[in-house]
This record gives sequence, structure tokens and C-alpha cells, in this order.
Amino acid sequence: TPRKDNPLYALLEQAAAYYRQQLRQHPARQRAVSYLKGRGLSGQIAKLYDIGMAPPGWDNLMSHLSRDTTEQNALIEAGLVVENPDSGGRYDRFRDRIMFPIRDSRGRTIGFGGRVLGDEKPKYLNSPETSVFHKGQELYGLYEAKQQNRQLNEILVVEGYMDVIALAQHGVTNAVATLGTATSEEHLKRLFRLVQNVIFCFDGDRAGRQAAWRALNSALPVLEDGRHVRFLFLPDGQDPDTMVRQEGADAFRRRLEREAQPLTDYLFRHLAEESGADSLEGKAHMASLALPLIEQVPGGMLRRLLRQSLQQQTGIDLDTVEPAVMPAVGQPAAPQERPTHD
Ligand code: ATP
Ligand code: MN
Ligand code: MN
Ligand code: MN
Repeated sequence: TPRKDNPLYALLEQAAAYYRQQLRQHPARQRAVSYLKGRGLSGQIAKLYDIGMAPPGWDNLMSHLSRDTTEQNALIEAGLVVENPDSGGRYDRFRDRIMFPIRDSRGRTIGFGGRVLGDEKPKYLNSPETSVFHKGQELYGLYEAKQQNRQLNEILVVEGYMDVIALAQHGVTNAVATLGTATSEEHLKRLFRLVQNVIFCFDGDRAGRQAAWRALNSALPVLEDGRHVRFLFLPDGQDPDTMVRQEGADAFRRRLEREAQPLTDYLFRHLAEESGADSLEGKAHMASLALPLIEQVPGGMLRRLLRQSLQQQTGIDLDTVEPAVMPAVGQPAAPQERPTHD
């Protein structure tokens, strides 16, 4: 079926309406409402992001949205109902959770994220990949960011649903999140169709720093001249949600302006740390790590500047480095002639 006719869209919309209604009417709604208020969210922002609630129980959604096995099958295809492979028993995927509808850039609901109200695990549950939900391409909050800004010229990429929503609550309305996956080249291509400026602002923890380096790697192949990618590293233990709630929107914006590092600074700083670039061995190592990354940059001017900068930092005349010497990206290093150990 062509994408636009996919019946899953209507079903997912009905599910979003159901979860939204539960947050307004369910007898156990108060716990969810208090949770959202406790995280500083207003009714208005909850409405803008269409936040809902999946009530406790195994088959609330299923019994509301299906009358027979065929209709249940559609709910399974939509990722809303799960079938136990052993018993064949079917039950709601999302139970007793705050529900965040994930919309495509045209506003159609394509999946959900669900958060527990307490500390249970897993904290977040996302819809699986379906015929309408492709995690490697979609960005949470992009539709809402477009709604809130007539003209976008910069987009902030954060890790989580609550980061996007808390920022919007404070008036920072240009944040989007990847959906529990690494930032892909597809994500970046999509962003660069809308804006020339992308700032990554991940959590101040190990996972966040790893996500940043992976995002840099996804950005290199789409770094045409004129496009700007920056990275803001938050203090340990902070994420954009806690940060903006702690210091407010103005301070957060100033932080972005002052502290966000251009991708190229981050690249060299990271590689210098990695390779110990104060010795000759370190410089050689750094150059061997940097060159294959730099060669991925399609922007001709930026690529040349990066090579010049590497040359200055290492003292290596890169024009005399033959391409064959550069290790190919993603391939194991060439076999060594002699073992380094016995
Ligand atoms: P909180 O609601 O506690 O503030 P968070 O958004 O800060 O949560 P993190 O633990 O920092 O959550 O994770 C960032 C994002 O990664 C989440 O918003 C979610 O999209 C995704 N994520 C986290 N844990 C899981 C999980 N167990 N399964 C799938 N995705 C997850
Ligand atoms: Mn984190
Ligand atoms: Mn958080
Ligand atoms: Mn976080």
C-alpha cells in the first residue's frame, strides 16, 4: 500500500485520542497529572505535545479499539498490541505509562513513547519499527517545533522526550530528539533540509558523550560548506531538562551561544585527547585517526581548512601522505608484517 493510504495512520490517531482522553477522564488520572505537574509541565504544553496516559491493566486499549482478531492484528501491526509467542496471548504494549505520541513532520501520529510514573524498568518504552515508523529517520518534536516557529534557522538535538518538552515549556521551542537510537545521517539530512545550524546537546553523562561522538561521525558526510554543527556539553549529571529548569531559558540560551563548540573544535580536541598528541607518536596517531574522518567531509573548503589545521597541529606535511596510507573507514587496519608481541 502507498504510504498515504496506510490504515495504520487512522488507528494510531485513534490510540492517541484514547490516551489523551484517559489523562482527562480516567479514575487514576490524578497520579499522572501530578507527575507531569511535578516535572514542571503546564496543561498547555501537555496539549501541544498531545501527552496522554495508558491506564494500568492489560487490555484497555485493545478492548477499546478492536472487536475481533482481524482488528487486533491491525493493532499488532501498529505496535500497540503485543502477542506472546508461546501462549498466543495478546495484551497492550503500553500499560500504566505517560504517553508521548511521536508525529511525523506532517503531524501524523506514527508511534509512541511511554514513560513509567516511578522508577520501574524499563523507564521508557517505544513503539517498534512498523510500516509507518522508522526510528532512524524520525525526530521527536520536529512537527511541534515547526508549529511553534514560523521560521526555523537552528535546531537543537537532544536525547529525550522530556528534554524536548521541558525546553518548550521554557520557551526554547526548537528542540528535537532522536528516538532512543543514535543520530543517523538520515536524521541530519532531514535537519539540513530545514536549517543550516544544528546543535547537539546531549546528557552530561557517559552515554551522552558517546552519543555526541557518534553524532559527529554521522554529520561528517553531510557537512557541506555553509552548514554548521555545534556541540554543547552539559555539566556532569545534567540533561537539557534539568538544566533549563535549574537556570532558566535565558541562561540556557547564553550557554548555547558561549559554550557550544563547533564540530571541528570538538573533533580535534577529542582526537588529541585520544591520541596523546603532545608526543611525535601521539601526533602520528592523531593524524591517522583524523585523516579518514576529514576525507568524509563533502564541503571542499571546510575539508581543506581541516587538512591545514591538522597539518599545523601535527607538523605533518599532509600533501606528501599518499591516500593509500590512510586507513579506510570501518575496515580493519592492514595486517602487520611483524607481530608486535610474541
Ligand atoms: P527522564 O524522564 O527520567 O528525565 P530522560 O529523557 O532523561 O528521562 P535518559 O535516561 O537520559 O532519559 O534517556 C534519554 C532518552 O533515551 C529517553 O528519553 C528515551 O527516548 C531513550 N531511552 C531511555 N531509556 C530507554 C529504554 N529503556 N528504552 C528505550 N529508550 C530509552
Ligand atoms: Mn542520560
Ligand atoms: Mn531527564
Ligand atoms: Mn536524560
